Amino acid sequence: MSSIAFIGLGNMGAPMAHNLIKAGHQLTVFDLVPQAVQGLAAAGARAAADATEAVKGAEVVVTMLPASKHVEALYLADDLLAAIDAAALVIDCSTIAPDSARKVAAAAKARGLAMIDAPVSGGTGGAVAGTLTFIVGGEADALQRAMPVLQCMGKNIFHAGAAGAGQVAKICNNMLLGILMAGTSEALALGVANGLDPKVLSDIIAKSSGRNWATELYNPWPGVMDHAPASKGYAGGFGVDLMLKDLGLAAESALSTRSSIPLGELARNLYSLHSAAGTGKLDFSSIVKLYTDKAA
Ligand code: NAD
Repeated sequence: MSSIAFIGLGNMGAPMAHNLIKAGHQLTVFDLVPQAVQGLAAAGARAAADATEAVKGAEVVVTMLPASKHVEALYLADDLLAAIDAAALVIDCSTIAPDSARKVAAAAKARGLAMIDAPVSGGTGGAVAGTLTFIVGGEADALQRAMPVLQCMGKNIFHAGAAGAGQVAKICNNMLLGILMAGTSEALALGVANGLDPKVLSDIIAKSSGRNWATELYNPWPGVMDHAPASKGYAGGFGVDLMLKDLGLAAESALSTRSSIPLGELARNLYSLHSAAGTGKLDFSSIVKLYTDKAA
């Protein structure tokens, strides 16, 4: 059992923290949203008044924040690193720019702290079930130390390479996810416009060569899968603006290496148009509305 500070209790962080409590770890939690902290306190976590209090005496610090600016603000501008015990291990699970991850990891190293970037894949369903995929960047020793903690929240744990490499791999994965969700939405909208039942078409695709994560687990069409955000008014899940952030990170990475990502850029523009209509907080599978609302 370890004493763990967990900071960032949103759609992903809250269920991940719950799984650490279930596994017997002693958690101290903090989020800017008081209700999020109360939810974990009700499950047995200690509630901290701020991030500095949360990390005091912790053996492991886990953060699950929205974007680079939040991670840099917390660890660097607010100098949370200075409050963390020198023997502690720091695990940032947020999806952020590889350069930000390297910058924070270097600052941690300068203070003698071990740190890994460990962004996740698997969605809120994977976070609740404890079946996330962790994509880790950092030193092998630090990953070995992190294993018992990561295994309480996930099933597949990959070492992508040095600091920041976890973020590079995660960005590639999410660029593909953004493209395939838009493509799946486009195919379903085409079928429905031509008289097909969305459930029947989804069943056909799920057993044909167009099958993918969306048709198997996360169908964007309302009513096709009861558990999917599409059937819950696109609430919870992975926000449109978070997908837009990840596609922006892919674009930045492409610029820095002169890589061509025509489909990634097209997907970024689709999510940007969609977000501009006020959908930023909806699950990203609501991209299907770009097709259906227009048709209506
Ligand atoms: P979210 O917006 O639901 O949660 C983020 C939480 O961080 C919020 O509760 C917010 O109040 C808190 N926060 C922000 N700044 C803080 C600070 N300084 N101190 C304490 N708390 C702070 O986001 P999410 O969906 O949980 O995603 C978190 C990260 O995981 C993002 O980087 C996202 O890209 C990534 N991710 C999300 C999913 C998904 O399906 N939602 C899947 C994989 C990866």
